[in-house]
Order: sequence, then structure tokens, then C-alpha cells
Amino acid sequence: MTENRADENAAPRRETARFCPSAQPSLGNSLVLGTVNRLGEEASVTLLEHPVKVTEGTILAFAGSQIRPTDVFRFAAPCEQCGCNNWSGSTCRVAEKLVQILPSVGSELPRCKLRSVCQWFAQEGGAACMRCPQVQTDNASLEAALNSVAPASIPLATDTPVHR
Ligand code: SF4
Repeated sequence: MTENRADENAAPRRETARFCPSAQPSLGNSLVLGTVNRLGEEASVTLLEHPVKVTEGTILAFAGSQIRPTDVFRFAAPCEQCGCNNWSGSTCRVAEKLVQILPSVGSELPRCKLRSVCQWFAQEGGAACMRCPQVQTDNASLEAALNSVAPASIPLATDTPVHR
């Protein structure tokens, strides 16, 4: 069995400094985690072999453009926990919902350098990873689906760590 073999029951790890794997690039210490591939209305994310630090130039490259950074890239940033509307107090609600509403895809966990510090993996285990490539940050359809899981929950913010 390889390290990346899909196992939705893979034990979540205990780490202290965790990262949100679907964040805004303007957050401190953010990383480019992957690239967004679009095919019509469908989007998928290819995780980079080596995530790279977001620089001022990364953000400036999109200044004045109608294309948002999140249209092209997936970013990761340190999880702000109580600073994020998606934090329940002990868990990320987005990760909880993703494993409920999205199908598991693929037969192996995607290769991912973030895994040892990823909040979604720490919380939901391999089930999160098997859905992760389907997540495009700021995708209105996905956001609506996530909000429909628990109508009473706080709507997803776009300027805080958005765990989508
Ligand atoms: S959910 Fe899994 S695949 Fe996605 S960023 Fe976290 S560790 Fe990587």
C-alpha cells in the first residue's frame, strides 16, 4: 500500500499550526497550493508538487483585472480559527460539509505537501483529500451548496480564510 492510497478512514493527525487549504492570497504567509483547471462550468484543482509563497507580485499581477486570483489558483494560509466565520469553535464547518456534499473522486489520495499541517485533513482525514481537488475558492455554486447543508449557519465570507 502506498502512502497516497485512498483511505477515507485515515486517522486525522494532531498538529498545532494548521493551514486552511482554500484561503485568500491576501492573508499573511499564504501559499499557492494549486492551479484551477476549467472545463465549461466544471472546475478542478491540480495541486502543485511544491507550493510556493504568495508574494506582493502575485497579487499585483491581478490588479485591475476582472480575473480574480482564485479564478486561477488555490491558496492556503494559516487557519485563523476564531477569526474565521467558518470556525465552529473547534472545527472547520466547511470541511465538515464538503465531505457530506461532494463525491469522493479518484482511487488514491492526491499527492499533497500541505497534508501534515492541513486543517481539513486533520479534521476529516482522507475523506477531505478525496474531495479537495473539486474545490475552487469563491465558486458561487459550491458556496450555495455548502450553505444549503445548514441554512442556519453563517454565510461564507470572502475576505476571511474561506475554507471552500
Ligand atoms: S484536504 Fe488533503 S489534499 Fe486537500 S490540501 Fe488538505 S491534505 Fe492536501
